[in-house]
Amino acid sequence: MSLPFKDVNPQKLSRLVEISRILNSATSLSHLLNYIIGEAAKLIDTEAASILLFDSRTRQLYFMAASNEDHGQLTRTPVPLDNSIAGAVFQANRPMIIKDVTKDARWNQDIDQAIHFQTHNILGVPMRNVKRRPVGVLEAINKQGDGHFQVEDIETLSILADIAGVAVEKARLIEELRRANRELSELDQIKSDFISIASHELRTPLSVILGYVSFLREEADPEMASQLNNVMDAAVHLRTLIQDMVNLRYVDAGEDRRQQERLNLVDVVREMSLQRDETAAAKQQTITLDLPSTPLPILGDRGMIEMIINNLINNAVKFTPNNGRIHVALVPKDGEAWLSVADNGIGIPRKDLDRIFRRFYQVESVLRRRYEGMGLGLSIVKDLVELHNGRIWVESKKQAGSRFTIALPLHQR
Ligand code: ADP
Repeated sequence: MSLPFKDVNPQKLSRLVEISRILNSATSLSHLLNYIIGEAAKLIDTEAASILLFDSRTRQLYFMAASNEDHGQLTRTPVPLDNSIAGAVFQANRPMIIKDVTKDARWNQDIDQAIHFQTHNILGVPMRNVKRRPVGVLEAINKQGDGHFQVEDIETLSILADIAGVAVEKARLIEELRRANRELSELDQIKSDFISIASHELRTPLSVILGYVSFLREEADPEMASQLNNVMDAAVHLRTLIQDMVNLRYVDAGEDRRQQERLNLVDVVREMSLQRDETAAAKQQTITLDLPSTPLPILGDRGMIEMIINNLINNAVKFTPNNGRIHVALVPKDGEAWLSVADNGIGIPRKDLDRIFRRFYQVESVLRRRYEGMGLGLSIVKDLVELHNGRIWVESKKQAGSRFTIALPLHQR
């Protein structure tokens, strides 16, 4: 049985293993390419080496790195697939030796002229990806010594080119991912900017409407007053929607806005008078409270903690039918305060349990919605909880009810 690379000496093989390790950990394409050509020229003992990569959109090869030029003049110079040495290696997908380039009609001397170099002979090998399809060409130029490439040179350069092909493809994918990531963050920024501009611009005319309606209502006869009540209700509803958008901005400002103080969470919950929630009363729902007799100190921003609890209560009220029950419980647990808001409302399907914490996510489809809202509340709650080094999760069963729990670290002095 013959070994695939029987002509490569053991020292070179161990060097190749070391190169493979380095290439695998590299993520910047240009560093990677320069490293490969440096190693190629050393391993094969040639004056220079260069790499051309294939661009599938233009279907041409492009010089990406060359060790015989100093100023990157060659970078991105196109080389056609037909009628070029690199193109022939690429299309045949196998190594080629050109002993004397001057006798080869495919040889293009313009490149030499551009970089003041003289090419005599070339060993070109395809660089292949994991599927063994060519992604580029690695060329070793001007063999030193007697000027003749040996079988060992072909095998050594082929191994290097294959390792390099896989590494190059990986680095390209990483660069693509980075670019996509950058674009996503830009989009996210645009969305946040839009939300803050829109909420700001909507607030001013809305306060004018609210002001005039309440003034007109005082002057109006009973029939007119009842119609103005409807206008008022709609405007107040609009104000809560806009408040959600404003809150989003508040959350995005994150730690800058947080005003930490030592709070007794038991007092905060008690003082929020949850049991007297007007919307719950209108739906004849009962809210019960179960608070411990000992204080539960946390380090937090009071406004933010109240916003978290309000959001959970409002959701429980909204997604629970008339006469439903809502239970708020607070307990200490392993160095944390666990606050849960449980309802016996419509519940949440299992597949949506994680998604409801994302911005703008709602279980009901937009077209068949029964409940108002923008799908922002829980994402704000989650951000605020995390800003306090806490966690939030939900347990729920469709048609049976939901229990949201937040765990916040207790503050020990
Ligand atoms: P909004 O209530 O404004 O739609 P949220 O971010 O507060 O947005 O909630 C996202 C979605 O999670 C809601 O649209 C609803 O489908 C679901 N949800 C939240 N709380 C409850 C609850 N207590 N019971 C059932 N579903 C809920």
